[in-house]
Amino acid sequence: MPDAIPTQRANKRAVIIGGSMSGLFSAAFLQQIGWDVDVYEKSSVELVGRGAGITTHPELLDALEASGAGTKDLGVEVPKRFSIDREGRITDERPLRQVLTSWDRLQSLLRETIDTARYHLGWAFEHVEQDGHGVRVHFNGGRVQQADLLVGGDGVRSSVRGQVAPELQPIYAGYYIWRGAPNEADLSPKTLREIFPYFVFYLPPQQEVITYPIAGLNNDLRPGHRRYNFIWYRAADAARLRDMNVDEKGVQHDHSVPPPLIRKDLIAQMYADARDIMPDVMLDCVMKIKQPFITPIYDFTAPRIVFGRTAMVGDAAANARPHMGFGVAKAGQDAQALARALRDHDDIDTALKAYNADRQPIGNVIVNHSRKLGTHMGVNLKTEEDRRMHALLQSDGAMMDWIAVPHFLDAYR
Ligand SMILES: Cc1cc2nc3c(=O)[nH]c(=O)nc-3n(C[C@H](O)[C@H](O)[C@H](O)COP(=O)(O)OP(=O)(O)OC[C@H]3O[C@@H](n4cnc5c(N)ncnc54)[C@H](O)[C@@H]3O)c2cc1C
Repeated sequence: MPDAIPTQRANKRAVIIGGSMSGLFSAAFLQQIGWDVDVYEKSSVELVGRGAGITTHPELLDALEASGAGTKDLGVEVPKRFSIDREGRITDERPLRQVLTSWDRLQSLLRETIDTARYHLGWAFEHVEQDGHGVRVHFNGGRVQQADLLVGGDGVRSSVRGQVAPELQPIYAGYYIWRGAPNEADLSPKTLREIFPYFVFYLPPQQEVITYPIAGLNNDLRPGHRRYNFIWYRAADAARLRDMNVDEKGVQHDHSVPPPLIRKDLIAQMYADARDIMPDVMLDCVMKIKQPFITPIYDFTAPRIVFGRTAMVGDAAANARPHMGFGVAKAGQDAQALARALRDHDDIDTALKAYNADRQPIGNVIVNHSRKLGTHMGVNLKTEEDRRMHALLQSDGAMMDWIAVPHFLDAYR
């Protein structure tokens, strides 16, 4: 049974920064306990078309049900996963039913849970003033909002955290992803037949390619209208990443380059490398990606996730490498735990202390688990345990047993 949180307390107000997964989950769960909420998103246009595939977990389904968003038409179900070699032959397989959804679908389901008047686009958080009793939150353009609580759901590069704990910074993992989602209709008959219906791994040395089907644009689940999520992990040291963060116009970016500005020489090199190493069905996917993205991978954990009357949720609180596909599930669980603590304690500061004690350690566990899975890439192996995991994860079967599987947290309970 999902742990729905009944309405109990009222006359309290939260300002939530970030209109993505953790911001929306926070709004949904805080509303359930009778709080007034306002969500502020810096993007001035609706957050659609981000397009990335999202592996679901039982914890995510529970959080969606409990939040009121539900799981209707959530995504595409695959019956199994398998790995292939350079010739496209299956090397190993596992039966595992999984529903693969998309960031867009989750966003639209969660948006339904809150009043549109409470969701404000085009408002960027600038700074917060806190006293013992509440927060005054300042936005671009001079807008100020008073509230009992500030929720930082503004992602791994959180500007809320940047103010309350500027010393805490994400750490580059030593690798990045090329990703995209070609249209089902563009893929070759062979690709559609051999890999499209499945969760597929291709694991050349120091690399990891993962593919699975997701809905098409506007959550189109009809055969022929879906997309194929394509993720290709590759190693690059910090100097190489810095070079890759110089855009087509020669401008240096700090963290990543917006997709339309990715340098043409990098894209050309990516295609050339794909031709060298990919099985033909995977190469077909790469060549059909209309706009490839580069996503550098970062670790982030914090010794605490509450700073006065400011509580961090989702990636802003702890950001794991995406090997388990658990980030949205964690965002939902953080938000639910925050609301539960505020429901169960009369005093907000006591509730926030309880929230911190509950979720900060779990964030650490999840990030450390993702680091273990990342040892497959063979970069920054620091300990004997890292080297042991790296050796274990050189087998296709082991990767399929560890990557994006449900219930991985059970081992830590
Ligand atoms: C390649 C890849 C694959 C992934 N695969 C999966 C998967 O399979 N399953 C899964 O569960 N998770 C997956 N994740 C992780 C998942 O995408 C994140 O965990 C999730 O999006 C976190 O949500 P969030 O709301 O905390 O942060 P974000 O989604 O980063 O949202 C933060 C929001 O805050 C806004 N914002 C930032 N600064 C400000 C400001 N100053 N003022 C106002 N708004 C601001 C941003 O515009 C943004 O909309 C993956 C991640 C990557 C990179």
